[in-house]
Amino acid sequence: MENPTLVDGVADLAAEATGPSSPDDLLRRLVDVARHHLGVDGAGALAVEDGAVRLVHADDEAVEEVERLQQLLQEGPCRDAADTLAAVVVDDLTAAPGAWPEPTARALELGLGSLLAVPLTSRGRTWGVLELYRRRPGRWSADDLAAAHLLAHVTVSYLVMAADRDEARRAHAELSHRSTHDPLTGLPNRVLLFDRLEHALSSARRHERTVAVLFIDLDRFKAVNDTFGHAAGDTVLATVATRAAAALREEDTLARLAGDEFVVLCEDLPRAEPAELAAHVRAVTSRLRRALAEPIRLGGTELVVSASVGAALSDGHRSADELLADADGAMYQVKHSRPEEHGRDRRDERGADRDADRPRRSARQLQRQLAGALPHHQLRVHYQPIADADGRVHAVEALLRWQHPEHGLLPAARFIDLAAGTEAIVGIGRWVLDQACAQVARWERELGGRAPRTAYVNLSARELVDPGLTAAVTTALRTHHLQPEQLGLELAEAGFGDPQVLPGLREQQRRGHPLCVDDFGTGPSSLSRLVELPVTMAKIDQSFVAGLEHDARRGALVDAVVAVATRLDLRVTAEGVETAGQADRAVAAGCHYLQGHHCGAPQPGDALSALWGG
Ligand code: C2E
Ligand code: MG
Ligand code: MG
Repeated sequence: MENPTLVDGVADLAAEATGPSSPDDLLRRLVDVARHHLGVDGAGALAVEDGAVRLVHADDEAVEEVERLQQLLQEGPCRDAADTLAAVVVDDLTAAPGAWPEPTARALELGLGSLLAVPLTSRGRTWGVLELYRRRPGRWSADDLAAAHLLAHVTVSYLVMAADRDEARRAHAELSHRSTHDPLTGLPNRVLLFDRLEHALSSARRHERTVAVLFIDLDRFKAVNDTFGHAAGDTVLATVATRAAAALREEDTLARLAGDEFVVLCEDLPRAEPAELAAHVRAVTSRLRRALAEPIRLGGTELVVSASVGAALSDGHRSADELLADADGAMYQVKHSRPEEHGRDRRDERGADRDADRPRRSARQLQRQLAGALPHHQLRVHYQPIADADGRVHAVEALLRWQHPEHGLLPAARFIDLAAGTEAIVGIGRWVLDQACAQVARWERELGGRAPRTAYVNLSARELVDPGLTAAVTTALRTHHLQPEQLGLELAEAGFGDPQVLPGLREQQRRGHPLCVDDFGTGPSSLSRLVELPVTMAKIDQSFVAGLEHDARRGALVDAVVAVATRLDLRVTAEGVETAGQADRAVAAGCHYLQGHHCGAPQPGDALSALWGG
């Protein structure tokens, strides 16, 4: 290389470029190098961004002022060099072309005599401009031009590298953002939520803190999509996300799990009493609910969205999966527990004390699997004896079981609410009716007079309002040659709160079916309502029976129910009788029948046939 000092300059630039410097750092270093190695009085560097020049650095006050003026006007030698991709050489500013009168006049005023503007070009575009000034007018030699071009070349190749590196960094950051965030709402997605949840749980274990997870599911969101279209649905989701995020503490995480499901993670809560934690969850839920209550404008209409919220708490001794499944399950129960409140704004909490529970499956997963249980022949009906005071089996209750492929035999309590919230219960209920009638007929054939006279089948409110119920009952009786009194129907007391079920019940009563109010004492009926209900039997809920021996108040209630029921000519069954003491006390109170493990657990029909000597 002809000018040995230039080598040092290039080395300086290289050192800058291989460090963590930004493109602006490189341009600053270019100004230094040019000043020291090219024998000029002042130098400046401008970046070219979106077609405009921007001053990055000048090492001389006069030069800086002229450059600023060029930036302001977007006019001058710099601009020309950037646009034409060719150097602009002005040996004598007093004789400069009239193209840029203002910058030229200002440069002359400030005592500058000549300039050289070299564009930094690569890949057909200009990345920046190096401007060199001398105070005296005079020719820029070929060596001067060559040296300036060399520095410009070296710099631009590093600039391109730096820009590529920046681009790669940005792309990487965007990719990692995209893999952890939901594109529609910008919220953390499932991946990031799980990451934070795992972290929160391990920190809760170490520092004795509590983690709360709220599962939010919008009500009737499908209807929004169906009625207003998917674009409107997206608007609703994005609005909900913004409002919900604004209602939360900075340190809480709001994530979008899928569709219309959002999750709030509140970490680092104290290890407080369950009631205190529940109050905290309630406060968060109310804030969320208030935030969502404002109508959302969709074109010409206003839409009010509501949400079902379920919560779960943990002291860290649960997996992220389990905790989320708990909150999901709680939400699901909230949404589906009462058909008439289907999808209303509601809330449920599950306490930290449930941490000790066996891991519960996601209610929703169970519900999905339940849809296939009947066609895959996984459902069973077990029968529990209902005995009179002398121990004679008078009837049985048909209780549904699910032979789950992974979880084994599940009792109805584990899944019936999931089915009862959906249409699936109707098909399942019909099948149970048929099975129970078939079993009664079989016992009659096998056992003759020793066979239980009646099988009671449980019905949910949804089944009772189903217009096809009477036809289904008639078909089952006819198929198995039974009389109406051989098929009893049970409805939980809570179900009687729905006025729509009463006509259906009266119709079944008129047809001669024994009707039973189940779980009596747990629903909204008062004793006096017993008078109005079209029933022939009341089953006192097992929670009262459990207290019969030692809890005088519960005992008094049983006495009262029996007294009223007897006056109304109703039969009374004590259910959930587990001990001889409870059985004695129930009989002493005047209960006509007993049901519970003390008299016999629910079993397959064949097992009972064998027991009864069939
Ligand atoms: P339920 O009608 O009150 O049935 C009594 C429940 O208590 C049954 O639970 C039974 O297994 C359980 N049980 C019986 N004896 C004892 C005892 O001595 N101690 C205790 N702790 N429990 C006892 P299961 O089978 O899980 O059924 C739960 C509920 O599910 C039933 O309550 C009934 O409301 C509903 N169900 C059951 N089968 C059907 C069905 O086929 N259709 C509908 N719609 N509901 C059903
Ligand atoms: Mg029952
Ligand atoms: Mg019951």
